[in-house]
Amino acid sequence: MITLTKKFEFEAAHRISNYEGPCLEIHGHTYKLEVTISGPIDPVTDMILDFKTFKNLVKKSIIEQFDHALLLKDNEENRKLFEGYAGKIAWMNSEPTAERMLQGMADTLQRLISAPAQLDSLLLYETSSSFACWKNSIG
Ligand SMILES: [Zn+2]
Repeated sequence: MITLTKKFEFEAAHRISNYEGPCLEIHGHTYKLEVTISGPIDPVTDMILDFKTFKNLVKKSIIEQFDHALLLKDNEENRKLFEGYAGKIAWMNSEPTAERMLQGMADTLQRLISAPAQLDSLLLYETSSSFACWKNSIG
């Protein structure tokens, strides 16, 4: 089986509001995201998916939402704190951990990648030594 992978980077800040420790404070990461798809090679294009199409799909649906954003759980405490903040906030219905971010990204990309290509796996690096991985259990 052949897979295709695109790598992306984005900057984002977050706070884990239910955490006892330094991650409770707003801090930033240079997130690295690796998106891998699989599928048959199209006999006309000789591609699984054009890398350019692949890149634009991830940029528009994921990167533009998160890049240079403040990622926050949509709860009462955060709403109060950031009521008057005019900057870019990506509200999430969970704590903005790498695991929850990755689950949301997987849901979005699974909807957008059209058959016969499919999302194979995702890696989201929060630091150079810490990452979350999502794997398609069907494929
Ligand atoms: Zn963090």
